[in-house]
Amino acid sequence: MKSLPPGYARSMSHLFSGPADLHLHSNHSDGTEAPAEVMRQAHAHGVRTAALTDHDRTTGWAEAGDAAVTLGMTFIPGMELSAKHEWRSVHVLGYLFDPEDAALAAETDRIRGDRVGRAERIVRSIGRDYDLLWEDVLAQTTLDATVGRPHIADALIARGIVRDRTEAFDGILHPREGYYEPHYAPDPLTAVRLITDAGGVAIIAHPSTAGRDRMMPVPFVERLIEEGLGGFEIDHRENTESGKRVLRDLAKKHDLIVTGSSDYHGSGKPNRPGENTTSDEMVARLVDRATGFSPRYP
Ligand code: AMP
Ligand code: FE
Ligand code: FE
Ligand code: ZN
Repeated sequence: MKSLPPGYARSMSHLFSGPADLHLHSNHSDGTEAPAEVMRQAHAHGVRTAALTDHDRTTGWAEAGDAAVTLGMTFIPGMELSAKHEWRSVHVLGYLFDPEDAALAAETDRIRGDRVGRAERIVRSIGRDYDLLWEDVLAQTTLDATVGRPHIADALIARGIVRDRTEAFDGILHPREGYYEPHYAPDPLTAVRLITDAGGVAIIAHPSTAGRDRMMPVPFVERLIEEGLGGFEIDHRENTESGKRVLRDLAKKHDLIVTGSSDYHGSGKPNRPGENTTSDEMVARLVDRATGFSPRYP
């Protein structure tokens, strides 16, 4: 465990008291609110242990952590690392890893860099059919945010082409419309290894969504477990019921951590903080397993 600055000292009396939401996004990626506001919203929705998990980025940790502890919440630093299995986009949540780990930082830099060119290509392609420019997307991304389709959606909204992100994703941004392009992302095995080697705990985010990203085959998931995968995010609104059953059985068989979370994106998605939660027992297991960083306690 790294030595930690004074503000990070443990105060055991406040350990995991109350609902935990371990998947929240800020405007450092594709959420619509600053990290501190995300923590205020989580607190207002009854959350008492919160993780900030921006896509491929950790720059929101300090602000979110300060806000969380001021509000009396426990803060778990995290990230949602983009990965890819065959054609599937796979999201791997990493918690309590060393944000300065060189290999992990190099990989997130590579993903984030490639996301920019990819977003530009998507916008150029959409721009042939709609009144949309790359400058419109730049106007929607602040703070060097991890750029993604949600920012293209926001540009389409600003142009009056769609009403909200949901309409954009159901229409123009859906792969069936032909504008979609993938971005560079590591294999899930690499993603799990990078997070684990940085002292963190890797949890597959929303592993059983419907549609083209549907669940990775079980034998491959078992390889991820051998590689050090810590568990699954099971209670998430996008997991299918049948997928949740498969995941619960797998978690039991391999004694894995299971989490529940909202995947809050501010006004960018209907998901509300605390709509799914993780048990105190599972939060404790997550914290015990991590060696890369410490939670921040109030
Ligand atoms: P990208 O990584 O650029 O392909 O974009 C995927 C991101 O879009 C994910 O992080 C989701 O949070 C977001 N997203 C996916 N579907 C929707 C939707 N229907 N409404 C709003 N955001 C969405
Ligand atoms: Fe997102
Ligand atoms: Fe995700
Ligand atoms: Zn997410």
